[in-house]
Amino acid sequence: MFSIFPNTGCTMSNRSYQEVQPRNAAQLFPPTLDDYVAADNPVRAIDAYVGMLDLRELGFRHANARTGSGQPPFDPAILLKLYIYGYQNRIRSSRQLEKATRLNVEVMWLCQNVQPGYKTIADFRKNNLKALQQVNREFVRDCRDLSLLGGSRVAVDGTFLKASANRGSVHTKASLERGLARLDKLIESHYRAMDEEDASDPEGNDLSDPDLVAKMEALIERRARKKALQEQLEASGDTQVSEVDPDARLLRKNGKSVVGYNGQIAVDDKAKLIVATDLVQDGNDSQQLEPMMTQASEAMESEGLVGLADTGYYNGDQLKGCEDRGMEMYVPLPDNAILKGKDGRFGSEDFPYDSETDSFTCPAGRKLVPNGSTYMSRGKRYLVYRSNAGVCGSCPLASRCLPRTDFSRRITRWEHADVMDRHRERMANDNGEVMGLRGSLVEHPFGTLKVWSGVHHFLMRGLAKCRGEFNLMVLCYNFRRVLEEIGVGAFVAYCRARKEVQGIGM
Ligand code: SF4
Repeated sequence: MFSIFPNTGCTMSNRSYQEVQPRNAAQLFPPTLDDYVAADNPVRAIDAYVGMLDLRELGFRHANARTGSGQPPFDPAILLKLYIYGYQNRIRSSRQLEKATRLNVEVMWLCQNVQPGYKTIADFRKNNLKALQQVNREFVRDCRDLSLLGGSRVAVDGTFLKASANRGSVHTKASLERGLARLDKLIESHYRAMDEEDASDPEGNDLSDPDLVAKMEALIERRARKKALQEQLEASGDTQVSEVDPDARLLRKNGKSVVGYNGQIAVDDKAKLIVATDLVQDGNDSQQLEPMMTQASEAMESEGLVGLADTGYYNGDQLKGCEDRGMEMYVPLPDNAILKGKDGRFGSEDFPYDSETDSFTCPAGRKLVPNGSTYMSRGKRYLVYRSNAGVCGSCPLASRCLPRTDFSRRITRWEHADVMDRHRERMANDNGEVMGLRGSLVEHPFGTLKVWSGVHHFLMRGLAKCRGEFNLMVLCYNFRRVLEEIGVGAFVAYCRARKEVQGIGM
């Protein structure tokens, strides 16, 4: 049969597989690396962006080009480009990044065929944590200059991100006590078994089972390690101690537990860009509202922000802090925000407050007024209001109102409770128009970071290093969002124009 593929024996109509080429066949590759990278390839945006940054000002190590003898260092601009590319393309480990500089044409173009080793790549991330944070902040300013920020409304949220440590490496006081008790029991039973073996030989020979002896030694070693951890925990005054990542914490929410950190973000509502980030060790979000709102306000240079957050952020001090800064917060009230009465008894909700007369009105229509006394609880000062004992004595509702040991009703009010009154009113007046936006704003970035970028856990250990890594993740999320919004060409043009204005590298 005639074949047009004499070397492969294939025919057009009767081929088992796609045709392959001999390995020694001559190739006609494009003559330059630049020919491989299309004009709208996102790597051109990374190149233009890093090219316009003043790395010296941002604090990058080796940004001051050195002169003198010895091997020159790698340009930090190349390494920064490599990381931005890597975090955008699910290549986060330094060894994989090193491999990419040899095998990936886009990376070869971006790094101009420079091939740093994995240790140099890893050290860059480790040694430039603050500078990376600064780049992240600078990028928010660029987003503002590109008119991609609304600057009036942000949503704050947090998510648990796994540390580079497993569940068994984190210990609490209770778990250490349980572990030590268990080990003590085991050691005791092994000693007993050894004693029984010894007693079984009337001539007093050592009949100890070598396996049992080895087990004992291992148990004693484990016990010593646990004891040392217990002492370390006691000395630190902390509630947890972690063996692998010393700063990671066992965090619990909605029945799930994670050994890691709590990643916080504030998202602007115009293009869903992240304008503020932080990484904290707290398992709950109750202390994060004001810091995140303040960071967002400073990053966008915007005053009078409207902030949205879920119930976990509800906290009087935090809401007051935001209000003092001129911010308007929308945070749903938790179920325990107002003490409800039980078993038919009257609770706080049955005593409406009147700010004009500074008094509460009881279910019988009588006033509870300040009695001049105050008390402190968890750093907050409360004012005490009392009903008239003489009136209460003849009140038909007294059995549902008064405690057994008192002759009048007592209600307390936080000295800044007016903040909470205004907050409650704001929430009651919102028909879902404002709060309804929260989920759509914050779920997108977290979903993208976790699913699309594959960021489920940190590669580094320690709070400062993980913070640096989180900043890189967020920078890459924002970078991609900006390219989706305005396109590679417009972004490159912006970077070039800014570079010209700043005179960087000229
Ligand atoms: S017992 Fe006193 S405070 Fe309570 S409802 Fe009666 S009058 Fe009001």
